[in-house]
Amino acid sequence: MENIKDTSIYRNPVILQSEDLTKYILETAVYPREPEALKELRKATENHPWGFMATLPEAGQLMTILLKLLNPKKTLEVGVFTGYSLLLTALNIPHDGKITAIDIDRKSYEVGLPVIKKAGVEHKIDFIESPALPILDNLLEDPTNEGSFDFAFIDADKENYVKYHERIIKLVKVGGLLVYDNTLWGGRVAWPEEDVPQHAKSGRQAAIEFNKTITQDSRVEFALTSIGDGLSVCRRIV
Ligand code: SAM
Ligand code: CA
Repeated sequence: MENIKDTSIYRNPVILQSEDLTKYILETAVYPREPEALKELRKATENHPWGFMATLPEAGQLMTILLKLLNPKKTLEVGVFTGYSLLLTALNIPHDGKITAIDIDRKSYEVGLPVIKKAGVEHKIDFIESPALPILDNLLEDPTNEGSFDFAFIDADKENYVKYHERIIKLVKVGGLLVYDNTLWGGRVAWPEEDVPQHAKSGRQAAIEFNKTITQDSRVEFALTSIGDGLSVCRRIV
């Protein structure tokens, strides 16, 4: 089958090799169930020059179920952008739950912040403007943080996913979840390299490396789901 190239008119990236099917899923099952606050934040993000980076709402639906099942008190987010996944997390953890959210770009976070405030969940969020690796290293310097997080969502620079994993696996407790986004990189992980446009090469390589690493990691149970842009769900078991 011919690959859907990056000129896709519907949206980018596209994992399902049928835009009609993607549209069907969104219009039948996702948009009608999307909470108003998330819809508002998604709309506020549409005009952002990098609006395509927001977590895809169908992946958000699966995250919602995971969060509800886990009922996490202490969570971590690496890669906030305008805050779709952050607001989704804040809406689905308990009232006294907390999210440590890290991003190098506060400006994008501020695009979604009014919606987060309106939804009444800002008190759950500790936003840290910084590259994520030094913050994770700081957290690990305090032994009381080890195994203290119930849930982590990782959605920042894909080239650092393996480094994030090495740190976050120590911060999340046994039984906790680490969820990684974009692990199928628009389906390009399975494309012949010569077909991959230059701008997508490094992300594709990073996703391939990460998928190999996580599959061999016996500390986690793991499912690579082909929802959204590929959502890898890992449960720490030792
Ligand atoms: N989860 C977000 C959402 O639901 O809209 C999307 C995150 S976006 C795909 C990736 C984010 O990672 C960007 O906002 C970018 O600023 C941030 N980022 C990139 N490199 C980073 C780094 N080294 N440390 C922290 N954040 C980083
Ligand atoms: Ca993402």
